[in-house]
Order: sequence, then C-alpha cells, then structure tokens
Amino acid sequence: MRLFDTLTRTERDLRPLDGRTFRFYCCGPTVYGPAHIGNFRTFVLQDVLRRTLETGGIRTLHVRNITDVDDKTIRDSQKAEKSLKEFTRGWTVKFHDDCEKLGLLPPHIEPSAVEHIPQQIAMIAALVEKGHGYASDDGSVYFRISSFPGYGRLSRLDQRELEIGKTQNARSSSDEYEKDSLSDFVLWKGRKPEDGENFWASPWGEGRPGWHLECSAMIQEYLGDTFDLHSGGVDLVFPHHENEIAQSECACGGHFAEHWFHITHLLVDGGKMSKSLGNLYTLEDLAARGFSAMELRYVLIGAHYRKPLNFTLESLSAAREALAKLAKGARQLAAMTAPGTRLASADFGPFQGAWDSLSHDLNTPGALGGIFTGLREASNLTGDDAAAALAGFNRLMRALGLTLPEEVDQGAVVIPESIRALADARWQARLARNWQESDVLRGQLADQGWAVKDGKESYTLEPASGE
Ligand code: AMP
Ligand code: ZN
Repeated sequence: MRLFDTLTRTERDLRPLDGRTFRFYCCGPTVYGPAHIGNFRTFVLQDVLRRTLETGGIRTLHVRNITDVDDKTIRDSQKAEKSLKEFTRGWTVKFHDDCEKLGLLPPHIEPSAVEHIPQQIAMIAALVEKGHGYASDDGSVYFRISSFPGYGRLSRLDQRELEIGKTQNARSSSDEYEKDSLSDFVLWKGRKPEDGENFWASPWGEGRPGWHLECSAMIQEYLGDTFDLHSGGVDLVFPHHENEIAQSECACGGHFAEHWFHITHLLVDGGKMSKSLGNLYTLEDLAARGFSAMELRYVLIGAHYRKPLNFTLESLSAAREALAKLAKGARQLAAMTAPGTRLASADFGPFQGAWDSLSHDLNTPGALGGIFTGLREASNLTGDDAAAALAGFNRLMRALGLTLPEEVDQGAVVIPESIRALADARWQARLARNWQESDVLRGQLADQGWAVKDGKESYTLEPASGE
C-alpha cells in the first residue's frame, strides 16, 4: 500500500523494514478527561491504516502509549482530589470503553509513561553524556536543539525562517509551547511544590520526565532505534514529533521513524472545537443525542485524512442512512448466495475499486464510494459469484472497521431449496411474460415469509421481516 509521508512530502510504499512485521507507534491519549471526537478522528484513521495493512496480508505490531503524567493530568487530578494514579486509571478505563464502542482494535502494546520512568531517566542520562542535554539551576534538564543539525526537518522550520542559533538561550519548561517559539525543550522537570506527590528520584534531583521524552523512551523499549511508522494528529508535528526525533536520534544514533503519518484536524461547524464554545463533543454527548459510536466512525472515515473534516450533527444522520444502505446491500448479496456457501475470496470482485482507493493513500471516502458502486454492480450476481462478491464486501467492512446495523454473515441468510425453486419458477414465468403465474408465485413466497425483488437480469430474495 502507498501512503503520504510528512517528512519527505511524498507518497511511499509501506513495507516492513524487517520483511516480516510492520511496526508502528501512535502517540496515545492524555488521560485527564474523556477523549473528544477530534482525538477519535486520529485514532480511527490509525486503526483503518492497521486494518488495511492486515487485510493486505501484512502483519502489524501496534504500540500506542497512555500519557498518564504531564502538566494537565497533575493539575486535574489535584482538582479532583484524587491521586494521579487513581485519576488517570479512571480516564484510561473510559478511553478503552470508547475505543471498543468505535470498533478500534486494541494496540498490541499499550505502555504508560509512569510505568517507564527508569527508561526515561536512562535516555536523559545518555543525552547529557553526549552533550545534547544540560542541567539547569532549578534541577531541570533541557535538550540543546543547536546540538542537533537535523532539528526542524520534519516541520520544515527553515522555511519559517527561524534560525536555531538565534534562540540558543531560550528555554521552555512547559510540555506544550507555541509553534513559533523555538527553544530548548525540557527533558526532566525539577520538582515544584505544585507537583504534589508526583515526583521521582533522578541523578538531577527529584522531578518528573518531560512529555516529549516519554514517547522516545517507550519507542526505544518496544520498537528499538528504527521502526516503520510514527503517527499522530497534525498538531504533534511541531514541537512534539520534532523533539522526539531529536531526542531519539541523539540518544540512540541512526534513523528514527521510517515514515510519518499525520491526520488533519477535525473541525466543528467550520471552526476549532472548544469547551467554551459548547461544541466539544464526546461519545457520550453524541449518545445523548441518539447517535451511535459506529455512526461517528462512519463520519470520521468519510473524509480523507489529509483534508480537514468539518463535523456537523447532520452528518451523523447521513451516516445512519448510509450504514443502513450498506446493510441492505449485504443482505441482498447474502440472499443470492447458495445456502451455507462460505467463500474466502482472494480478490475483491466488484469491490476492487474500493480496495484500490483504500490502499492508495488511505482514501477512505473513495473506498466508501467504491463500495456503493460495487453493490450496484453486484446486484445481478447469483450463486458463487454473489458469494465471492459478499466475501469481498466483508473484507472491506473489516478493513474500514465498520459493523453494520444488522450483522450480515456469509451464509447467515439460508434460503431453503423449496423457496429458491419457487422463486426460480416465478422468474421463468416473468421471462415468459406470464404475469398472472408470476403474481401467484410471488404470493406463495410472501405467504412463506419471503419478499422477492426483480433486477434487470435476476432477482433477489429477502426475508420479509428484514424490510
Ligand atoms: P491528546 O490526548 O491531546 O494527547 O491527543 C490525542 C491525539 O488526538 C493526538 O494524536 C492529537 O494530535 C489528536 N488530536 C487532538 N485534537 C484533534 C482534532 N481536533 N482532530 C484530530 N486529531 C486531534
Ligand atoms: Zn508522542
């Protein structure tokens, strides 16, 4: 499959570096409240990437961290009068619950920052030893960005006419800082009274790791120095991912991520989501309005990941209709397969176009369009052809992670032979323009609970109750 790479600004093939397993890392949630639908745009697209690779026969190793110590988690745990551990555990459980509702495959490894303090200290020590890190008077340790000539390549800082030399003495101890304030960033934060109980011992005194460092240390632990792909929302390109590259390449040497996958932000009603505007939605907010997580998933994959997605509540209603149409299409295909047929097809049949879209820069809206086209093309198929088409359809549903309102399994709709014989007889009557006979047979089918619909070259059967 091909995917756009933020670093080289080109589309490149995705192939496991080790020839076996595609190993990738996603920056995970900061667990200080419920994740919002913007966060889920990013997590859902990462899930579709993984599913697409796996559908294409590539094994994956998916690592996604939990950020359970930073400025925000500490601040809000204190407001909630809970220990950091208890506070972040509660929000982690909620996050997992939401992920399950959205059909996200759990990552193979989900490390947390607090569980990897020794690894983070070891990485800082390596940076200090090599002259890339320096301790300051307040017991903090900073990364000297002028010591890494590659700094700014990912976010093309040179094009923003910022010179690293000019900012040599500027420092930032905040976990997040403004895009244009280029500064040495914090690796270890010296203990402050407002940190409460949340500090650890280190060679530079008590304190806690900086946010950027956490990912670098966990990546080294689980994926080594070099790995296949790194991902997050576009807001992470600078400074977070820029800082991760600097830390990891300086501490470990060599090359960090082979490929960078960034997801453009979701907007609400054309603008940024924010609590103060009252347009920040969580899964719970949508459930209160009667919408399901699967409907949200459909909306989230409805736009290409490199374009902004403007979310509206109306788009959820449209998603509901689209999902119902897909379910109906699948039911019709299932009705045309011979009873009990189970075909594991190697190709996608009428859904090849949809698969091509997906494997070309993860074009999810193109894939959805291709699925509807495929269903129209497949409407005349019968027997094994219908079964093969249904197998292709189901593979696409799995790649997109869509669960349809009424679960359609191949062969789940078993059409008794006597019913098929009646339906065949009726079709023959129709072909002979014997309308009276055709109507009698339709009535007999209806009496036995089957609805028949005529296509141009064939018919479809559906359980009448399925209407
Ligand atoms: P956080 O929990 O803030 O660390 O964010 C988790 C993930 O969500 C990161 O990859 C962010 O880049 C991503 N993210 C945050 N806001 C949005 C948004 N509005 N649209 C898409 N992704 C977002
Ligand atoms: Zn990260």
